[in-house]
Amino acid sequence: MGVYNTILLAVDLSEEANQVAARAAGLATAHNAKLHVVHVIEPLSFAYGGDIPIDFSTIQDEIQKQAETQLRGMCAKLGIPEVQLHLVMGRPENEIHTLAKSLRADLIVVGSHGRHGLALLLGSTANGVLHGAICDVLAVRVGK
Ligand code: AMP
Repeated sequence: MGVYNTILLAVDLSEEANQVAARAAGLATAHNAKLHVVHVIEPLSFAYGGDIPIDFSTIQDEIQKQAETQLRGMCAKLGIPEVQLHLVMGRPENEIHTLAKSLRADLIVVGSHGRHGLALLLGSTANGVLHGAICDVLAVRVGK
């Protein structure tokens, strides 16, 4: 079996993300691979379109700060250096693919579902990541 050299873990910062992170960290250790972690913040304007004249910048800044704190906390527990953390803005599947390409990741690890997955076997982000990926994708089964 080949080994993975660069693993990209995508986390939505839900409670289940810790299970997914633990699996990715175990794989990284087993393969002696570099583990990068990404969280993608979806701009609020995506959800509300451009129709409503509301200034989301303060809320968006707060979301960014909280996400950064959570991501740093998670990575500190796993011993992942800060240079391997990525907090980006955009559509999760697009940003995950772009980052995976630029890092030349050979494995992307996602949860089978997260905040949007509900009862689906594979959440929409996990599905999107799987379909456009040019490397292996591991969907870690989380929750029920
Ligand atoms: P979902 O499609 O929301 O059910 O999420 C499935 C999985 O996709 C999660 O367990 C994460 O691994 C990944 N994911 C979802 N949203 C994000 C996000 N905003 N940033 C990074 N990864 C995400």
